[in-house]
Amino acid sequence: MRLDEILNKIGSTKLIAVSKNVTENEVLELYSQGQMDFGENRVQELKRKKDVLHNLNLNWHFIGRLQANKINHLLALHPILWQSCESLSMALAVDKRLDYTLDCLLQINSAHEESKQGVDPNVAIDEFLRIKQSCKNLNLVGVMSIGAHSDDIKEIQKSFESTYKIYENLQKYGAKICSMGMSSDYELAIKCGSNMIRLGTILYK
Ligand SMILES: *Cc1c(COP(=O)(O)O)cnc(C)c1O
Repeated sequence: MRLDEILNKIGSTKLIAVSKNVTENEVLELYSQGQMDFGENRVQELKRKKDVLHNLNLNWHFIGRLQANKINHLLALHPILWQSCESLSMALAVDKRLDYTLDCLLQINSAHEESKQGVDPNVAIDEFLRIKQSCKNLNLVGVMSIGAHSDDIKEIQKSFESTYKIYENLQKYGAKICSMGMSSDYELAIKCGSNMIRLGTILYK
């Protein structure tokens, strides 16, 4: 789908173009149409694309699992937003290596799926507050979630609603971003209150 069609459809929702499965050429193409925010799920690939495209002023989001031995590499890249913080212990490990303020989101495993990273929704609020209290260089600005992996739209909706409810509760503690919705479910995510979607495949076909 074309970028301008998607932008028309999503209104004020912020679009992150996930570039993990494409090359810098596709990134350039979207950039030439005005897209500035991109997401990668691997530190090495984020570094490579950022290096190749260093003359463009792109905003890079890290959306993947962060291995302990990649923390320093990620921080050296100064991502605009780390969307996949999934626990207090991980937050602490990152915080102690930070010498600048990094915005981040708490990832919530709203569908209770074992294959997925993220905190359990039942403890998400507590975990958010603990991270906020314990990490002076991390600036928690919201939540991120991946919709339930299901053909049943009701299941997907339930997982988005669960994330949104947590987000609503966290607004008084500084949450401003509710990042949910991917190529297959972004319209539903927006209906459920998402204000940031992360689209990959749909942008490149
Ligand atoms: C790959 C990925 C996306 C984009 O997925 P598509 O289905 O290609 O739109 C969004 N969020 C995360 C965390 C991802 O890993």
